[in-house]
Amino acid sequence: MKTNFVHWFLHPSDESVKTYRALMDTVVKLITNETMRINKPFSGASRQEIESRVKEMFNLSTVAQKMDDVMEEIQNVIVRNSLWISHPSSMAHLHCPPLLPSIAAEVMINALNQSMDSWDQSPAATYVETELINFFTKQIGYSHDSDGIFTSGGTQSNYMGLLLARNKACQTNFSVNVHEEGLPFEARRLRILCSEHAHFTVQQSAAQLGLGMNAVVKVAANDQHQLCIDDAKKKIVQLRRQGLLPFMIVATAGTTDFGSIDCLKDIAKLANEEHLWLHVDAAYGGALLFSHQYRHLVSDLCLADSITIDFHKLYYQSISCGAFFVKHKQDFKQIAYYADYLNPKEDQEDGIINLVEKSVQTTKRFDALKLLFTFKLMGTHLFGEMVDYTINLAKETANLLKNDPRFEVLNEPEINALLFRYIPSQRWEDPSYVDEINLELQRAFYQSGELIMAKTRQGGKVYLKFTMLNPLNTISKMKTHIERMKQVGEKIEKERGEKRYEYSVHY
Ligand SMILES: *Cc1c(COP(=O)(O)O)cnc(C)c1O
Repeated sequence: MKTNFVHWFLHPSDESVKTYRALMDTVVKLITNETMRINKPFSGASRQEIESRVKEMFNLSTVAQKMDDVMEEIQNVIVRNSLWISHPSSMAHLHCPPLLPSIAAEVMINALNQSMDSWDQSPAATYVETELINFFTKQIGYSHDSDGIFTSGGTQSNYMGLLLARNKACQTNFSVNVHEEGLPFEARRLRILCSEHAHFTVQQSAAQLGLGMNAVVKVAANDQHQLCIDDAKKKIVQLRRQGLLPFMIVATAGTTDFGSIDCLKDIAKLANEEHLWLHVDAAYGGALLFSHQYRHLVSDLCLADSITIDFHKLYYQSISCGAFFVKHKQDFKQIAYYADYLNPKEDQEDGIINLVEKSVQTTKRFDALKLLFTFKLMGTHLFGEMVDYTINLAKETANLLKNDPRFEVLNEPEINALLFRYIPSQRWEDPSYVDEINLELQRAFYQSGELIMAKTRQGGKVYLKFTMLNPLNTISKMKTHIERMKQVGEKIEKERGEKRYEYSVHY
């Protein structure tokens, strides 16, 4: 039997190159065709339908299927039922339309398949990541003593912030090297402060790091949804009085719901006075570093001991792409592990960079190439303009909603997230009626596929949310959405009214 697998790998043969081209051409054609035909962000197919159609695809056989058949299936089942995130009406989460340079860079990243753990697996890529980290530490305003590493995203970056801070706290307070000895008993006294609007991964990381979710103490937020300094001070006093040990404060530059930015300068001052590690979660707001109008909002990022920045959010990179930064590079030493086969200590003496020493991942993607390619092709100036445009659009949209009696706006958008709710025209007694109408509105639009927005709860009430990342969105599109929401809202109200009527007639 003659097996021929040569053409399934990249290989210097006509067969291999032909297959590579054919596959690439086919997938590019598929995506370009879809791009031309897409007129709403979602097909509107039901969950049951999508699930059963995907299951049907899994009649996997021992023999190869025909390319055309496979492509057709993928197009009809998967692509057609994917959330089309590049459509401007898709604005639920911090989930961005990827820039074309990022999409194209992925093709190279995949073909090169460099692994960023050790230099011998990524001889050029290691320096690309290192230089991008240097480029960003300069933008942040950090000194030469700073450092960073690419991560899978904000979750991992926040985890690393807590990990380094915890290890340092145990060393300073209990003279225990957690990396080697594990957590001491006294570690149960450690406490972390963050605002009530901080990302859930702060608590999740505390749980994973053996501190427990209850080690995270929530500080109240002020009217602008920022961490309230006075409450933080009060909480610190209370904790110390109870014999507990606050060692870290997490500030957020761009909260997930509101996009609010904590006052970094005041928090840094407090952290300094109280000897707390300051981590800033700038997963969302980190993009303001290149903003022309709003850069001042993140000008104090450099005061942080560690920082999270996501590139797969407001930096418009495809998933995954993020980074973690530290003010003092020696802080990474607390998690360094030397494996003889991968990154022996003698490598360090020879000046060889093995990025695994700074990472919680081993095999790691070459995501840095996407950003390099993007900045080279687009320039940082245009990039900043894009970010500013979306923020200004969110502010204008907030004004439209504010001037309409059918809506209530919860926040003056500091960046481009906007929370609001539909206010029914009918009189209502039960406050949960408004919640239900809003939930139904969100669901109805998802089901029609025409407008994808998120739902969340604030102060026990349901709100709708626009996360307006797409620079191709416009104010006229937003006006249309608002009119449509009113139409659909009225229809839902009417149907509910009729149902209530039927109910009373029936009984
Ligand atoms: C998105 C987000 C995270 C989580 O990041 P992932 O990239 O999804 O892992 C953490 N913090 C904030 C403020 C975020 O917006």
